[in-house]
Amino acid sequence: MERINTNVIENKVVQEVLKGNNGHQEVVNSKGNTMLAGYSATAGDSNWGIISQTPKISVNEPIIQMVKKVSFTAIPFMIFIFLISFLLLKKIVNPIRKLAVYAQQVTEQKTIPTPHIPDWYFELKELKRGIFVAVDFYQKKLNDVENEAVLDPLTGFYNRRTLESTIKRLDMYSIILFDIDHFKNVNDKYGHQKGEEVLKFISSLVKKELRETELCYRLGGEEFLIVLPETNGSIAHSIAERIREAAATTKSPTGNPITLSMGIGNIPEIAQSFEELFHAADQALYEAKQLDRNRVKAAKTNLIN
Ligand code: GH3
Ligand code: MG
Ligand code: MG
Repeated sequence: MERINTNVIENKVVQEVLKGNNGHQEVVNSKGNTMLAGYSATAGDSNWGIISQTPKISVNEPIIQMVKKVSFTAIPFMIFIFLISFLLLKKIVNPIRKLAVYAQQVTEQKTIPTPHIPDWYFELKELKRGIFVAVDFYQKKLNDVENEAVLDPLTGFYNRRTLESTIKRLDMYSIILFDIDHFKNVNDKYGHQKGEEVLKFISSLVKKELRETELCYRLGGEEFLIVLPETNGSIAHSIAERIREAAATTKSPTGNPITLSMGIGNIPEIAQSFEELFHAADQALYEAKQLDRNRVKAAKTNLIN
């Protein structure tokens, strides 16, 4: 109201109208307020027009207020949703990650303890079960294959294959080389099947007399080798005697005891190499056979030279 009759000719928008232009723009009025103006000039030479303008602040203020209000209520809610999503995602992804690490490790190393992985949703539960079953299956298969390669299936003793690598690792050890007496008679008298039973019986009798670290090999047929790490000749002798005695006094599957002849020797007491020692023990075993069997003979040194 106060401004009626005020000359505003210098106003930019008035200038536009006087030039005959139509349009809209932001202007600062003569009082220094920022205004939003729309204007339209009459066609022809009548030299007048209409300007409609309103303070910019009155247009923007409600929007700013609304944005502030929305922000105050929505932002905490969004943070809350974000946190919940993050925690949930962690709970979903973490077990899968653990499973992936386990799957990776298991392909690199053979024996990895099975990790504890919480399986609280169906897909994870099935995935975990699948991986564990597969790993277990292939580990068992692998063990079987490895065992088949180095173990004699009848007696469960090692075969010759691992003998060389085992011997290489040892500095001081004794061996007991033994052979079943008159085993041919067992086969002839009771049949081959009974012969197999006797072989099994002897192997379990021998195992019972030995410790975990003491290793048994079936060299072939009814000839066996025991390797006693860190054991001197005289202890090896008494262990051999114990086994011989046990066999000679225990009923075998034939109904009678089975006797064993043995040759024993020690490195470094008897020889410097396994080949020398084995040869000497074999000679001692031969002597035991000559001396009516069922006995332990100690190997003599320097038989090769
Ligand atoms: P010795 O006291 O001189 O050792 O007499 P032996 O009859 O035990 O010795 P010999 O070497 O003459 O015969 C060993 C026999 O062992 C020959 C074979 O019939 C039998 N034999 C070898 N391997 C096996 C096997 O795996 N199973 C069975 N049942 N018999 C076997
Ligand atoms: Mg024999
Ligand atoms: Mg033999």
